[in-house]
Amino acid sequence: MDLESIHRHYSNCTRCSLCQGRTHIVLGEGNPQSPLMFVGEGPGADEDRQGRPFVGRAGQLLDRMLAAAEIPREDIFITNIVKCRPPGNRTPREEEMETCITILRYQFLAIRPKLIVTLGSAPTRALIDPAARITRVRGRWIERKGVRMMPTYHPAYLLRNPASKREAWTDFQAIRDAYREVLVGKED
Ligand code: URA
Repeated sequence: MDLESIHRHYSNCTRCSLCQGRTHIVLGEGNPQSPLMFVGEGPGADEDRQGRPFVGRAGQLLDRMLAAAEIPREDIFITNIVKCRPPGNRTPREEEMETCITILRYQFLAIRPKLIVTLGSAPTRALIDPAARITRVRGRWIERKGVRMMPTYHPAYLLRNPASKREAWTDFQAIRDAYREVLVGKED
């Protein structure tokens, strides 16, 4: 299934109760052939209102970090583990993530990214290691089935803990370098 068909298929999803509180489902956006994907936790209030991922304050910080790393936002694909806003921005529940991750898996199959960046604990645990502690695992590439995955801090965490921005910037430089390598490899 191509990305458009996946998004059409899930556009009115009611597979978990998060659908009850949503204004818009936030499936994700960007380049459907991007070798680089960013995965966050779930939409917040701004994302729910607009139907787009990472457009609130955390998203604006993500935009600044991407710009500093010279990674054009429109060239990559950005999404979340859960596609509907959890009430009051709570962390998505295990069963909500388990249900919704099906959409993400279809997105991976359609986009076939070479690099996946997980933003914060929830996507890191859901995709890499259920016991992962973000402060321990961030900044390291982990390879799974030929795909390199890097956990880093969630931008909302960085807004609350600006001292961690230095480490996050180191991670973004590594992401930039790996992304450039993949792009050069594609040209050969
Ligand atoms: N936080 C997330 O995890 N995802 C968004 O889309 C916005 C904020």
